[in-house]
Amino acid sequence: MERVHCLIIGSGPAGYTAAIYASRANLKPVLYQGIQPGGQLTTTTEVENYPGYPEGVQGPQMMVDFEKQAVRMGADIRYGLATKVDFSSHPHKVEIDEEKWIEADSVIIATGASAKWLGLESEKRLNGFGVSACAVCDGFFFRGKEVAIVGAGDTAAEEALYLSKLCTNVHMIVRRNEMRASKVMQDRVLNTPNIKVYWNADTEEIIGDKTVTAVRIKNNQTGEKTEIPVHGFFVAIGHQPNSDIFKGVLEMDEVGYIKTISGTTKTNVEGVFAAGDVQDKNYRQAVTAAGSGCMAALDAERYLGAKGLH
Ligand code: NDP
Repeated sequence: MERVHCLIIGSGPAGYTAAIYASRANLKPVLYQGIQPGGQLTTTTEVENYPGYPEGVQGPQMMVDFEKQAVRMGADIRYGLATKVDFSSHPHKVEIDEEKWIEADSVIIATGASAKWLGLESEKRLNGFGVSACAVCDGFFFRGKEVAIVGAGDTAAEEALYLSKLCTNVHMIVRRNEMRASKVMQDRVLNTPNIKVYWNADTEEIIGDKTVTAVRIKNNQTGEKTEIPVHGFFVAIGHQPNSDIFKGVLEMDEVGYIKTISGTTKTNVEGVFAAGDVQDKNYRQAVTAAGSGCMAALDAERYLGAKGLH
């Protein structure tokens, strides 16, 4: 069985940054990219809030740059999906593509999270062309324009407020007659003059040929349909951390975010570290994911050093 010093699972900003740092510390990291090499950023268009790119950069291009930098530092980047883990003894074991097992002295989990989507065909077709799951990433492109947002949790409330500062009007589509968001966030939303809430409303269709031009909603009590002209449509109905294969092995919160010891990337299993969105439901930014990827590599290096494995 192949044995590696440092196995990194996942290829978003957290995974690649961990690979850059681990390579430079001579941990000879092996990184498995997973099902979507580059992660969530490969589904966005322009990224303008990542420091170091004064002119902005396309999300997919940025991930190619991250990968190139990791390769230049000596990381072994491989296509493949971690399908099972056995962290019951040292070295830890990870199964790849349901066919081979790898032994690892340290493991960095950077499998990210996936935005939940409504599941409409038009939502998929117009993704990146007016449809987005991240207001902080893409809101800027709609400044001075009308947008809609679907969802009623803290994320939707926070994103609606964020958009209200950039956009002329924010149309907030809530499927029940109440919001799940915390009271304070609800109050802020309801007291913001340019946010209009549509209660008991389902999104029927996002309208637009090449870019979004309107959204059609239906009141699920009265059946009344309304078409709202908008340029942007934001989906904020929650995220799902990609942590299924670690269930029952690593400590997680009730939704599946991996728990780490505060101020570190350490999980409850020695030698296993978690970085990026799989352990962060609050910030979820490329730059915060990259920062925690760096932390994970440093934590892994210290762990291996203390164990006399490096
Ligand atoms: P939540 O799961 O809390 O909320 C999801 C929202 O989306 C709910 O209002 C839900 O409606 C709605 N929804 C789900 N599916 C659909 C659908 N198909 N159509 C329409 N609406 C839908 O996710 P969040 O991302 O908002 O929050 C996740 C966690 O992170 C929470 O614990 C939250 O408190 C926390 N958080 C904290 C923040 C902070 O403290 N600053 C900021 C952001 C998040 P319904 O209510 O009807 O189920």
